Amino acid sequence: MKLWITRPMTAEVEARARRDFDVESRESTLPLTPDEMRRALNDFDVVVPTLGDLFSAEVFAAVPNPRCRLLANFGVGYNHIDVQAAQSAGIRVTNTPGAVTDATADIAMTLILMTARRAGEGERLVRSGGWQGWHPTQMLGTHVTGKTVGIVGMGRIGQAIARRCHFGFGMDVAYVARSEKSLEFPATRADTLENLAGQVDFLVVAVPGGPETQHLINAPILSAMQPTAMLINIARGEVVDEMALIAALENGDIAGAGLDVYEFEPRVPDRLIQLENVSLLPHLGTATEEVRSSMGHMALDNVAAFVAGQDLPNPVN
Ligand code: NAP
Repeated sequence: MKLWITRPMTAEVEARARRDFDVESRESTLPLTPDEMRRALNDFDVVVPTLGDLFSAEVFAAVPNPRCRLLANFGVGYNHIDVQAAQSAGIRVTNTPGAVTDATADIAMTLILMTARRAGEGERLVRSGGWQGWHPTQMLGTHVTGKTVGIVGMGRIGQAIARRCHFGFGMDVAYVARSEKSLEFPATRADTLENLAGQVDFLVVAVPGGPETQHLINAPILSAMQPTAMLINIARGEVVDEMALIAALENGDIAGAGLDVYEFEPRVPDRLIQLENVSLLPHLGTATEEVRSSMGHMALDNVAAFVAGQDLPNPVN
């Protein structure tokens, strides 16, 4: 069984992969090129791909009899893989749910606090040497404690964010999801996304990416938000219409945004960078040593189960 891991992993994950499998580890930190994706399907039995590796229907069509039988994705989000096309090609896909939940919820809280309390702007001021000292009306932000958060997509990460907002910050929680949730904290389910957008101080996006949710947050949703409200996106960039978001920010239709993900990553529009009321992180959701190791172990657990002919722990097709 030949395994290809398409990015450098943490030391402990690399060590386990070398110990347990006949593995080739790719050194580049960039997404696979189309040639490399064809190589992945042609030359390996199992591949560990990740965000940015665009296994589209065309890629599967270009390799009619693939050697590859499993794409053990590193990450919970797998919208870069056409899962149906993989299925038709006889290739299973797995992901790494759960391992990412708390770290990503923590980044959502970081962005809520950074944006509301103008932390990025304040840090830039100190570093610029232009800070003239404390005064009662210096850099007034928005209070977070006791406000209302709206969660778009009350899944694992959405619930972890809501829990932090409720128990940590005494916030009211409202949400939209496709199905009713039974939650261990009070939360109101809004009937539409538009109504949710209109009633909250922070609208936090936590749905998966993909065709179903593309531009779910569009101009009408942004204009339904209060001018004092802020948008936080830790999900996938394509869920938010970035041009509509920039227009809403420039026009003052909303008060700010905190973004971990971008529509055309890693490209971040200059117009967004120019705005002081926006907090911009480079897709840090799961970026801790512990979590990246857990994700790697989870991906390798799926590989190991596949090799042993056992049920896959985290199948998505
Ligand atoms: P999850 O448990 O599957 O939760 C997704 C939630 O979204 C579910 O509650 C689902 O509703 C809801 N949903 C799906 N489509 C919807 C729609 N059209 N309208 C409203 N709600 C919808 O997934 P998760 O583990 O929380 O992860 C969510 C996403 O976060 C991942 O797919 C990934 O793209 C992203 N993520 C980002 C980072 C980062 O680094 N920034 C890290 C990890 C994950 P139902 O429950 O009713 O099905």
